[in-house]
Amino acid sequence: MTAEDREYRKIKVLITIKTYPIPSARYDELVCTAGVTEAGDFIRLYPINFRDLPFSQQYKKYQWIEVMAKKHGNRDVRKESYRPDCSTIRILGEPIGPGDNWAERARYVLKNKARSIEDLKDRWKADRTSLGIFKPRKVHDLVISPDDPDWKPRFKATLRQARLWETRGVSKEPPRKVPFKFHYEFECVDTRCKGHRMMIEDWEVGALFWKLVDRGLLHEDAAKKVREKFLGELCGPDKDTHFFVGTTLEHPEAWIVVGVFWPTLRPNEQGLGEQRLF
Ligand SMILES: [Zn+2]
Repeated sequence: MTAEDREYRKIKVLITIKTYPIPSARYDELVCTAGVTEAGDFIRLYPINFRDLPFSQQYKKYQWIEVMAKKHGNRDVRKESYRPDCSTIRILGEPIGPGDNWAERARYVLKNKARSIEDLKDRWKADRTSLGIFKPRKVHDLVISPDDPDWKPRFKATLRQARLWETRGVSKEPPRKVPFKFHYEFECVDTRCKGHRMMIEDWEVGALFWKLVDRGLLHEDAAKKVREKFLGELCGPDKDTHFFVGTTLEHPEAWIVVGVFWPTLRPNEQGLGEQRLF
């Protein structure tokens, strides 16, 4: 790490990734927020206690923000990890809409696109790359499995402890735990690919699940609807589906899906199936 890395500097990021919040012993509530710079480089920003940000600083996906940030210390060796000074977050204009098949979003998001998960694993070894985007060759399934209905007791205990000493946010409830796990099963274009089964940690998955439950759906039915949307729609035959993937601090070699990029294919690209990749 260079001396320059240790200094706060102004970074302009197009936010493209927000993961579902989990209570964290160290950071109270952990949301992975990440995005790309104008050069297409990925940047991960944490800790950000998103729900504690004033409304004027609550950025949305595909919105440019500017923030003072510096590289994390040696505890987090992942290339893209930056520590933001949250008081300096400034939102720059409206989010970029999906107009023209997401062309304006793709300009930045796909600039440094990886070829495959295998490619990203090579990059991790070479320079500690821990975030990326690539296009799966084929998405086989989205598998739903039951998960703990509540956060681990040690998480809740630390959370309560943290809240006791805080003046802000004392009445705030922890984020609701989704009682299911969702995994994508897919393969990449890489000849080394043996297929993947990868956890989905996209904020939108949890948000959609609870929206449906709040509308009166049973948990199982809500989970099925999440599958319909994230498999049937986002990975549908008319979509040019890409996955944002990243690693966690605790398991730096286990990649998870942290977001989906799903522009509609132009009519002349549809029906070409896998040919469109080459
Ligand atoms: Zn693969």
